[in-house]
Amino acid sequence: MSMNSQGRPTAAISGGAETASFESFSGHRGLRLAEPLIFELGNSETTGVDIADTGDFDLSIGGLERTEEIGCAGLSEPDTVRHYTRLSRLNYGIDMGVFPLGSCTMKHNPRLNEKMARLPGFGDIHPLQPIATVQGALGLMEELSNWLMTLTGMPAVALSPKAGAHGELCGVMAIRAAHEARGDARQIILCPESAHGTNPATAAFCGYKVKSIPGQANGRVDVAALKEALDDTVAAVMITNPNTCGLFENEVKDIADAIHAAGAFFYCDGANFTAIMGKVRPGDLGVDAMHFNLHKTFSTPHGGGGPGSGPVVFSDALKAHAPLPYVEEGKDGSLEMREWAEEGDTTFGRLTAFHGQMGMYVRALSYMLSHGSDGLKQASEDAVLSANYLYACLKDVMSASFEGPVMHEALFDDAFLKDTGVTTLDFAKAMIDEGYHPMTMYFPLVVHGAMLVEPTESESKYNLDQFIRSMRGLALAAKAGETERFENAPYFAPRKRLDETLAARNPILRFTKPDEA
Ligand SMILES: *Cc1c(COP(=O)(O)O)cnc(C)c1O
Repeated sequence: MSMNSQGRPTAAISGGAETASFESFSGHRGLRLAEPLIFELGNSETTGVDIADTGDFDLSIGGLERTEEIGCAGLSEPDTVRHYTRLSRLNYGIDMGVFPLGSCTMKHNPRLNEKMARLPGFGDIHPLQPIATVQGALGLMEELSNWLMTLTGMPAVALSPKAGAHGELCGVMAIRAAHEARGDARQIILCPESAHGTNPATAAFCGYKVKSIPGQANGRVDVAALKEALDDTVAAVMITNPNTCGLFENEVKDIADAIHAAGAFFYCDGANFTAIMGKVRPGDLGVDAMHFNLHKTFSTPHGGGGPGSGPVVFSDALKAHAPLPYVEEGKDGSLEMREWAEEGDTTFGRLTAFHGQMGMYVRALSYMLSHGSDGLKQASEDAVLSANYLYACLKDVMSASFEGPVMHEALFDDAFLKDTGVTTLDFAKAMIDEGYHPMTMYFPLVVHGAMLVEPTESESKYNLDQFIRSMRGLALAAKAGETERFENAPYFAPRKRLDETLAARNPILRFTKPDEA
């Protein structure tokens, strides 16, 4: 029987059914169950609920009533529960293992946060409820705002943006409102080459022309080129700090001064705030607007785990242009929601229908209060320590793109795979066989075949060491010419290598029953 490097038998996984010469009759593999689409499982005659016969009634929709079946899959309750439970077991999440996606800050989502978010006073309220009945919720929004302003040293915050990209939109709309208020129609926004795609996309969405600023050999913005590009047509510069190469832009003060001298605004993409939380205040660096990703820095769930939230802080120069609504204290000391612009206001208006993602505010404040200001600083230091540990343990076998020390993430490129026949994609797929979600691939674009790894503060040394062992193992296997391990990886996953190009070019978004196809 073969043993792994910790002396545990590996046969259960790499021997057994995986190498059997037969397939199971059911298509299942052990207790890992194959799952068809819900449309293949269900039929329109079955339902999980009893609905009383409606009897005769008059339709008043002018002949627009549906005449054909809706085509929803019908399943009984137990079959529905099983379907989604089986699907969830095919999924990979932060609660299963290391999730090393760079620039995404996949932290553990503390259960305390979930408990707080479900308190009836936060979980069961509605934005149209009388304001007197939601004073506690407004108080929480005010307290969260205070934390965000204190952490950044900035005087105003808009909570309502619903994601990082939405926060960028909010910041750039405030910047445009500020220029318009001055009667200054500037048309250009500068973004470094290493920017997240959402930065130039936001600028273009707001009607600006985007000019790209090159990077230097050390992975940071080319300040000379930036200064060269700054003139009175530039509305703003969008810079991520720490940047998407995992490095601190140490000339950021100089950059901010140059931006302001040209009459432009400094938008900071704060997605990587986890690396400097409690250590550096962006307001002290000259930032005019910065979004947070509560779902990154403050541990609220990402994507499928819940909606995001992207509050934006503003400098003195921009705060009059920040959006509505915001919480303010009324004359009698109770809290009110300021929802409407008044005569003379220069706010750009509303960004969302209601007040933003309340559940995320509760979770983020719960993270802040349970850590305290000293704990947030420690979390940031631990995130940076974890990333530097990975960087130090991997850089002799993988090629580090830039000289460390790094901040919260370590960037490698595919130079170490040169002449091995293994690509970044193959390497990432082989990580799935090792039980890891792949790191961020091919981003940032400034290096070839990028592999960006961000461990966060939530991984123990034991977890990091196991991850490092797999990554080293794969890197050495690639260099030793063991291409088979990579060629068709993942071998052990329920779905094998998919044709991702075809899927992206020709997505099939509508289910057709096999007999209709
Ligand atoms: C995640 C991220 C964004 C976008 O944030 P979303 O919440 O996904 O919209 C923008 N910039 C950087 C650097 C990021 O990492």
